[in-house]
Amino acid sequence: MKAAVLYGERDVRHEDVPEPKISKPTDAIIRLSASCICGSDLWPYRGLNPITAPMYMGHEYCGVVVEVGSAVKTVKSGQFVVGSFCISDNTCPHCKFGFQSSCEQLEFMTGAQAPLARVPLADGTLVATAEKPSEDLIPSLLAASDVLGTGWYAADAARVQPGSTVAVVGDGAVGLMGILAAKQMGAERIIAMSRTKTRQALAIEFGATDIVAERGEAGIGKIRKLTGNVGADAVLECVGTRESMMQAIQSARPGAMVGYVGVPHGVTFDGQELFFAQRGLMGGPAPVRRFLPHLVDLVLKKKIIPGKVFDLQLPLSDVAEGYRAMDERRAVKTLLRVT
Ligand SMILES: [Zn+2]
Repeated sequence: MKAAVLYGERDVRHEDVPEPKISKPTDAIIRLSASCICGSDLWPYRGLNPITAPMYMGHEYCGVVVEVGSAVKTVKSGQFVVGSFCISDNTCPHCKFGFQSSCEQLEFMTGAQAPLARVPLADGTLVATAEKPSEDLIPSLLAASDVLGTGWYAADAARVQPGSTVAVVGDGAVGLMGILAAKQMGAERIIAMSRTKTRQALAIEFGATDIVAERGEAGIGKIRKLTGNVGADAVLECVGTRESMMQAIQSARPGAMVGYVGVPHGVTFDGQELFFAQRGLMGGPAPVRRFLPHLVDLVLKKKIIPGKVFDLQLPLSDVAEGYRAMDERRAVKTLLRVT
């Protein structure tokens, strides 16, 4: 089969790779219905994470099970499934506590920008639907695998409540999904920080009530002004840079939580500054598995359409263009057709 392989900085290729096989009795093999490119794929693509060997890219997936290992009990061939980008057993103490992304057997999914993929710990990781969903729902179910689940976690970690005033730092796909999540959780006011017209429009479509285009001190000042000089009740940090993290913390009111899901690069904290700020930080790789059954249900009932976050669709063979478009911010998120 042909799949996406990253060789080095800005060098992703669509090329022949071996088909995945059951290598442990807890594995499943799925035929993907669609795949996509994640904002976090851009870190190694841009050379910000070192690449020592060719990498099989892709960790967001949904599709039909074609084979399961001998120890797999709940997942069956022919079922349509969605899984998290974090592989988890869903039975260890951390999984039971709702933090499947800290599972004792944690692995990160790889090799999903491909027609077939191996999913380890299939029973713990995969959520099956009762029947095969219609084609139009595939982008939204695929989104649940990571980008929606991660935006949802940002809102959950920030403790968004009905009536909350929420600020969202970052207008990438995760930030946009954070807006959708905050709206579902009953936020009354959602302030999206975005400088780009097309992304501002998407933010409003997903539920933003206010847009702040300014950054840094000016952006923080604008949020304070919009909140009567108080700060936001909950802040979602969906970028991962020092600037975005500082903007998030300083946009929050004392006592508020910052849910941060952008992988930090170059972010450091001063203990005393944090102490006197009295803002909480909760984040990390999202425990998407905790939210998956609910998110899949919302999609199947057509209460949310997170698939709108994909503003570019390409065949998997054009994966290099998909990365380029996201790298150059021409696309928010690229869906890759694999069939
Ligand atoms: Zn676990």
